[in-house]
Parts: sequence; structure tokens; C-alpha cells
Amino acid sequence: MLSSILSKSSCAACKFCCSFRRQSLWETPLFPPEVVEKLSKPNEYGVVGEFCDGQIILGGYKTGDPEEEVPCTFLDPHKGCILKPEDKPFDCSIWPLRIMNKDGKLVIALTPTCPSVGAVPSQALVNLVKNGLGDKIFEYAKTHPEIIKEYREGFLIILKRTK
Ligand code: SF4
Ligand code: SF4
Repeated sequence: MLSSILSKSSCAACKFCCSFRRQSLWETPLFPPEVVEKLSKPNEYGVVGEFCDGQIILGGYKTGDPEEEVPCTFLDPHKGCILKPEDKPFDCSIWPLRIMNKDGKLVIALTPTCPSVGAVPSQALVNLVKNGLGDKIFEYAKTHPEIIKEYREGFLIILKRTK
């Protein structure tokens, strides 16, 4: 969804949003039940995931270093995400945007940690969110409220839901 904003080559070199420190485990992607069903047993990707309430469970930290990162089960270090678009979580397709609950109101916010976008969104990203993408995310969250995260300091609000 953000292919007009994100450069494929930058993402290929980065992969930051597909690896998680312990403190970022709240951010691991959420999968809908039918995809969990498919990916939690032998499947076409040759990788079986472990899930809890739709959220992928990662493990395998080898040190006590809080900065240590563990890749998502479905990240190939050379090819990137191995999932087809239809199996990729909505959460991942809208990154670095997040839908969040701030004081009881839904907002679309930008995570400050994507090196391609930076902490301040470009006008192109703001336009994309305000001219359709934001409404699409709000609409998706109506049927998938589990993707709504509690607002955290540092996330920059781009759009507030008005209806
Ligand atoms: S953090 Fe940003 S630049 Fe890095 S892979 Fe994710 S979307 Fe691409
Ligand atoms: S599902 Fe794919 S895009 Fe999402 S975190 Fe895992 S590897 Fe990255």
C-alpha cells in the first residue's frame, strides 16, 4: 500500500520492521484466523508459524542484550518477506503507519522508527493517508479491531477519525 512512498531497495537493505527487539514484541504482526490456520501447519512456504491470538510468537533470543533482534518467522534474509500479498498481515502492508486509540479516538499515526520515512512524514505520505488510505485503514479496523493499538508517545498523528 505504501509502495509509492517506500523504496524497494531501501527496504531490502533495512528489514528493520520485520525484526523485533524484546521491547518491540507488541508490534509483531497480527494474522487473521484463516491465515493462522494455514500457516500454523505445513504449508506452501515450508515454514510453520506459532501464534497466540493471531499474533506471531517469536523467540530464540540468544543474549540478554535488549537491542538483540529476532527476525519474523516469515522473513527470508535475502528475499525479504516470503508471504504472498493475500497472506501478508494488513499490519505489515500499512507499516510504518499504525491505527491507534488515543484517548478513545481512532487515529492513523506514523511510527518514528522507519529510516526511509523518518519521524516526520513527507507531504506525499500525508496526502496518501488523507486522500483514501486513512479511510481504508479505518474501514478495515471496523471488522478487525484487533489491529488497533494503544497510542504511544513518539508516534506522529496524521489523521483522526471524524465519523
Ligand atoms: S523500517 Fe521502513 S525502510 Fe526499513 S524495511 Fe521497514 S518500511 Fe522499509
Ligand atoms: S509477515 Fe512478512 S512483512 Fe510482516 S513482519 Fe513478517 S516478514 Fe515482515
